[in-house]
Amino acid sequence: MSNYVKELLAEVKSKNPGEPEFHQAVEEVTESLALVFDKHPEYRTAKVLERIIEPERIISFRVPWVDDQGEIHINKGYRIEMNSAIGPYKGGLRFHPSVNLGILKFLAFEQVFKNSLTTLPMGGGKGGSDFDPKGKSDLKIMRFCQAFMSELFRHIGPNTDVPAGDIGVGGREIGYLFGQYKKLRNEFTGVLTGKGINWGGSLIRPEATGYGSVYFASEMLHTKGETLEGKICLVSGSGNVAQYTIEKILDLGGKAVTVSDSNGYIYDEAGINREKLAFIMDLKNVRRGRIKEYTDKYKSAVYKELNPKDDFNPLWNNKAACAFPSATQNEINGKDAQNLLNNGVYVVSEGANMPTTLDGVKIFLDNKILYGPGKAANAGGVAVSGLEMAQNSMRLPWIREEVDERLRLIMKGIHKTCIEMSERFGTPGNYVNGANIGGFLKVADAMIDQGVV
Ligand code: NAP
Repeated sequence: MSNYVKELLAEVKSKNPGEPEFHQAVEEVTESLALVFDKHPEYRTAKVLERIIEPERIISFRVPWVDDQGEIHINKGYRIEMNSAIGPYKGGLRFHPSVNLGILKFLAFEQVFKNSLTTLPMGGGKGGSDFDPKGKSDLKIMRFCQAFMSELFRHIGPNTDVPAGDIGVGGREIGYLFGQYKKLRNEFTGVLTGKGINWGGSLIRPEATGYGSVYFASEMLHTKGETLEGKICLVSGSGNVAQYTIEKILDLGGKAVTVSDSNGYIYDEAGINREKLAFIMDLKNVRRGRIKEYTDKYKSAVYKELNPKDDFNPLWNNKAACAFPSATQNEINGKDAQNLLNNGVYVVSEGANMPTTLDGVKIFLDNKILYGPGKAANAGGVAVSGLEMAQNSMRLPWIREEVDERLRLIMKGIHKTCIEMSERFGTPGNYVNGANIGGFLKVADAMIDQGVV
């Protein structure tokens, strides 16, 4: 690690104490960018990375709301407006009890590079709340979303900041948030993405992150003359990203054998076919149950409860060729990464954001497997959000095939950028360096063009 990187990371830690996920995200990017700074000291002189690391604006607010029994609750609400050099702030909202400033800053930071990679004009942002939607009635969810938007509405807008979904924020929540924004502003605009198809949403947006992550894996496999056909795949999570990852794996002839939630995971040796996937979608999106219930219906599958005391996740200790982490950050640690390799996995495409710890990443890179980091592999979601914004601006919807084709081409383009950048900076095949550098250069040049603002 160069002195510059060491000093910069030390400063980030001292200025942002108690935010380990943010430190981790910055460290990974900074190590890649050291390759750029060696060749182009002008970026260092202009302190571009230091400027990207400091959010342009952090909005933190109280969300008081009354539940259906008349009880008052107070949650924390946030929006991090990280970087607007190449377009309006853009990034999801996360509702989960683990949400805090450090987690949202890591997500917003990653988003800046990811959005740049899509080639669409979107800056980076992220927001959310420590509200836990799990097990809550629709009425409670609506009341919370309305209270959250009652403050957020004054900070966002279709040309300023355009939030979307993330963990705990799906179509239902976007609907309630949009309704409240429209009421308060008295205008119908594309201020959120992930909207319902009848009121400004884009076809393929719900599918986009999962489909994109599988398209990215296919592109990586093509570099070895291979396809997904017949390959065993491990998938974690059972939410939006996991569901459409499994759907696209099926489309391309692969076999997904696992699915999970925060309590445990399912191993289904026979493979999750379309009927089983429809069951998972109904269980998670309509009945809002736990993944354990899969084995009530499909008796040959096995459910394993997670033990929080374990220092590894048993899901990653099954024989397979490909892994699609699609649940949450740091779900693959060093031991899990080694287990994946020991079990034959040589393709990892990250649907989740930063699902692999730094030591896990190092193991993947040292072993030169096909490792697609989240900011490249899961960029399909925000890419189709960008396409939703374009359709909203034109007031014209595109057909499903058109959006899917654009998504496929964007993922192909991101893969090409990763390959070219990793080669140009002397680390061929290293998608981490390729994604970080490719995402950085466009934002950095825009920031230099626009002066110190
Ligand atoms: P989601 O629909 O809310 O599903 C999240 C899934 O992950 C659920 O199965 C959830 O289980 C599980 N999970 C969440 N926290 C967990 C934890 N601490 N430990 C174990 N499992 C956990 O969310 P999503 O939209 O699919 O997002 C999944 C990941 O993809 C996140 O990292 C997100 O940032 C990333 N991502 C999403 C999009 C998008 O378009 N939605 C785009 C890019 C990246 P429980 O139900 O038990 O909580």
